[in-house]
Amino acid sequence: MTARSRLTVLAGPTAVGKGTVAAYVRDHHPQVWVSVSATTRRPRPDELDGVHYHFITDAEFDDLIEGGHLLEWAVVHGRAKYGTPRAPVEEALAEGRLALLEIDLQGARQVRQSMPEARFVFLAPPTWDDLVDRLIGRGTETADEQRARLRTAEVELAAAQEFDAVIVNDDVPRAADELVSLMS
Ligand code: 5GP
Repeated sequence: MTARSRLTVLAGPTAVGKGTVAAYVRDHHPQVWVSVSATTRRPRPDELDGVHYHFITDAEFDDLIEGGHLLEWAVVHGRAKYGTPRAPVEEALAEGRLALLEIDLQGARQVRQSMPEARFVFLAPPTWDDLVDRLIGRGTETADEQRARLRTAEVELAAAQEFDAVIVNDDVPRAADELVSLMS
């Protein structure tokens, strides 16, 4: 297995539960190193800086871009910037670890350009209605934000065919186990 083929990118539509599946992998599959992204959005009440994201300012994010310190980055839902710090990924791969990035579709496409040997996995909802329920149920976004996220999700669902594998998130531990089996 080459270093780059130990890298797996998990993408999928907004609110499909990518973050939950990635967190499950982080907590239950210690052999997998899970990247912590940088973002300019504000933390939600249960989120910790350095654990869920590195919460940074716009100016700090722009410095990371200019310094070439991000493997990929994107503006998600037209609002905040999100990006993957490059050095920790390279360190994890150099140590021979399995590495997982949980990012949006734009970011996944960038990684495919720079690291085509990586494995690209699409996390899909069981149904469209299920996705809508999850998005509304989370209750952390305003109605405007929910509409913007649903529009994004519709376009993102159509991208499943670009991926090496599709995992249906019908159950978080099951989906996480399937992901880790694919990676190993
Ligand atoms: P949330 O704000 O709900 O945590 O995440 C919003 C979206 O940003 C999700 O689709 C998530 O996958 C994506 N995201 C999180 N981290 C990154 C990253 O480092 N790069 C990119 N391109 N997207 C990310």
